[in-house]
Amino acid sequence: MNEFLIQTKENLEKRGYSVFLCESKQRLLELVMGKILPLDISGLEIGFGHSETLEAINLPEECRCRGAQVFTHQPPLTSVEDDRKALLSDYYFLSANAVSKDGYIVNADGSGNRTAAACFGPKNVIFVISRNKITETLDEAMDRAINYTSVELAKKYADRGILPCMSIGRCTECFSPGCMCGVMTIHRKQLFGHKTSVILVNDDMGI
Ligand code: SF4
Repeated sequence: MNEFLIQTKENLEKRGYSVFLCESKQRLLELVMGKILPLDISGLEIGFGHSETLEAINLPEECRCRGAQVFTHQPPLTSVEDDRKALLSDYYFLSANAVSKDGYIVNADGSGNRTAAACFGPKNVIFVISRNKITETLDEAMDRAINYTSVELAKKYADRGILPCMSIGRCTECFSPGCMCGVMTIHRKQLFGHKTSVILVNDDMGI
């Protein structure tokens, strides 16, 4: 297992999170189904932030097939009602734009649905973070979230209209209506009374 991942796991644990190491993306679905979710998920409400990592393993569909009520955020097809229901779900899965080796989890969000859910609402929150999103420092994690992830998502999905970073390739701190990063969150530690877990994946996944 990657030493960088092991150090990040230890630092996240010091901050109160339950942390799981996943040896590869091929083992991720098995880990979620075997160690995170209960055996019987029929009737449970499971919410998802928009995440290429989670879609890559088909997790929302797998949960749906096992009888869970699933609420996903998939622009431009997203229903705001589903986003609201996801806020009160039994389990909420999301990725992160970056995590620093010392354990700060960083996300930028355009509509705030997943940053809100990660802060309060769902009974269990699970961050699934692949190794390519681990940075040395919090500054680098912030820089990755804005100058890399948000820019690449803006270019890839292009459903938010023309944004300056699409052509320049870096954030210009725009105030465009379709801005991908109206809110940024830094999770410093496990929140009081919360059950937040982190899965660190020893593979490169997502942007
Ligand atoms: S230019 Fe606007 S949309 Fe692009 S990364 Fe910066 S703040 Fe976000």
